[in-house]
Amino acid sequence: MEIKINGTKIILKVGDITEEDTQAVVNAANSTLMGGGGVDGAIHAKGGLSILEECKKIRKDIYPDGLPTGEAVITTGGNLKADYVIHTVGPICSGRFTEREEKLLYRAYYNSLKLAKEKGIKSISFPSISTGAYRCPVDKAAKTAFRALIDFIKNENYIEEIRFVLFTYDVYEIYKEAFNGI
Ligand code: ADP
Repeated sequence: MEIKINGTKIILKVGDITEEDTQAVVNAANSTLMGGGGVDGAIHAKGGLSILEECKKIRKDIYPDGLPTGEAVITTGGNLKADYVIHTVGPICSGRFTEREEKLLYRAYYNSLKLAKEKGIKSISFPSISTGAYRCPVDKAAKTAFRALIDFIKNENYIEEIRFVLFTYDVYEIYKEAFNGI
């Protein structure tokens, strides 16, 4: 599915984010930035060790206590097709989605887009942040993702293409429904 908002193309698709050829892909990281499961594990496995080395340097130089939830940092893409990886940390929901989780997830998306703009990135792919190991409800997470994205497009109007790369058809359907409800 594909639509345009203020000149920005938004694409929803089923796929593996490590295969995307946008300039940047977003990693649903954890605050250690040292890798993990899900998207994080796949990006580090396919992207190679240089990404981990850059993450270690970010930890040492900027975030010795870890990347706070809702913030974003950038590394190169290593062996991925994407030139850059933007690492962000979504909230741990464990099934809950109160104002707190919503705000943090919104910030994770918004700050990733802001960082992309600062780096001159014009195309970016997102996974469904926080809906795997962190267990946020997919429908609410999807609505929050689109809200952040639309706010960013309206405020900044810069990025040409934003993809949501959903791992399963079920999650894709929920995102599609959330998007149509906007
Ligand atoms: P979090 O810890 O933020 O919840 P996860 O990586 O555990 O992140 O899961 C987030 C979403 O990404 C889930 O829907 C999961 O199925 C999906 N996912 C896992 N691997 C990939 C991948 N390689 N590409 C795209 N999505 C993926």
